[in-house]
Amino acid sequence: MSDYMFMLESHLSADQARVVSEIQGAATHANMNVFLTGGAMRDMLGGFPILDIDFTVEGNALKLLPAITKKSGAKVLWEDDNRKLAALVFPSGVKATLGMARQEKYPQPGAKPAVRPASIHEDLRGRDFTINSIALSLNPASRGLLLDPNNGVGDLERKELRAVSNYTLYDDPVRLLRLLRLKVRLGFNIDERTKMQYDNAREAQLETRIPREDLLEELRHIANEPNCADVVHLLDQEKLLNLYSSALEGAKLNMPGLQKLQKARQTVPFGVDIHLESMGIFLYFLTEKMPPKESAAFIKRIGLTKREIEQWQKLETRSKSLEKSLKSAKLQKPSLVYSLLSKAAGDQVLFLLAHSSERLVHDRIKNYLQKYLPAAQEVTEADVVAAGGKPGTPKFQKVREDLILTRLDARPKKVPPPVVAGAPGAAAPAPAMARK
Ligand code: ATP
Ligand code: MG
Repeated sequence: MSDYMFMLESHLSADQARVVSEIQGAATHANMNVFLTGGAMRDMLGGFPILDIDFTVEGNALKLLPAITKKSGAKVLWEDDNRKLAALVFPSGVKATLGMARQEKYPQPGAKPAVRPASIHEDLRGRDFTINSIALSLNPASRGLLLDPNNGVGDLERKELRAVSNYTLYDDPVRLLRLLRLKVRLGFNIDERTKMQYDNAREAQLETRIPREDLLEELRHIANEPNCADVVHLLDQEKLLNLYSSALEGAKLNMPGLQKLQKARQTVPFGVDIHLESMGIFLYFLTEKMPPKESAAFIKRIGLTKREIEQWQKLETRSKSLEKSLKSAKLQKPSLVYSLLSKAAGDQVLFLLAHSSERLVHDRIKNYLQKYLPAAQEVTEADVVAAGGKPGTPKFQKVREDLILTRLDARPKKVPPPVVAGAPGAAAPAPAMARK
């Protein structure tokens, strides 16, 4: 097995690995070349958590959708027919994008690009930043081959964000926002030439050419960032928030609220998925101090979906009954807290953690996120089989749930002290960057 395939397998969760093999199977069956690309490659090579898996196929990616959805039960979240790009969510909650390898020509900054099918090499040369333009072949003949025409691996090692070309930020100005978001997310520096390109683009007010739908999509990305408050803070410093609303500038911006949300998000341990729909809760804190008139104008301008507006505006009311149940004196056992919160919507759980003034509510949510959920994830398929659950049957979930509840209540109160790093028997920390 190639080093990179090995790295991939050790980096993906079991559910993500299943998605990779399903997509790979569908592409092979259709005789199309498929590659792992984008953020998934950047995050794997950089040692960051993989949030969603980006696949690129040489050929019309949308043609693979019927076979994939039928076989795996995945749902298509959206489709972009121009770019032949779709986003999918699998029954396990794993998210992926599947797109056609393409070349995009921008007649003017921010204009709709002319798209044509291209080879994976051409596609990588047209991406935004070098660290986002690495591909891994998943094809039987070249499985594990790394394609890195812009030396993204070198920039990952240097921790630098470098534009792929001198026109990167001009062609598609939403990349101005992507650059700042990635800088915050990864803590990387912006390389000098890219910084010059950024300054020139800002001088020419290229940000005003970002299409409305790109602004919205970028806001969704920001909402999804665990450190969304830091991203908003940088956009504020860069005077870019007025692209969304003049009521979000300077002192009018609800930074303390966003900080609370960020703190709550960071309470969720790495690898624990609370199936969060992040846009509504993000908008709640972003706009908490916004006067109703400005808020209405913001909604109109940005073009949110009905669901997003509802998730945002009904969040406080929706969370009330969960708060009441969480305060109940009956909720003494961990299993009861787990049962209640594992059925609750992720945004309500985070909202109460960030917003509730009840100590008990906080403590119970913290225990759930930091103790009970990780403990539940330790229950393996083999454990469930040993307890009489047959994989693929409805009973399986029930047996799993019962096993989790029993284990939670049986857990010893005192957890043994963590193994001190460097002590005999302590695991070596994972290298931030595996060698080639
Ligand atoms: P995340 O981890 O947030 O998903 P990502 O880098 O994967 O980050 P996506 O929006 O999923 O972001 O995009 C996938 C890939 O597609 C990017 O890594 C990049 O290679 C490419 N891409 C996305 N948007 C653009 C753009 N506006 N211009 C050029 N390339 C883009
Ligand atoms: Mg991605």
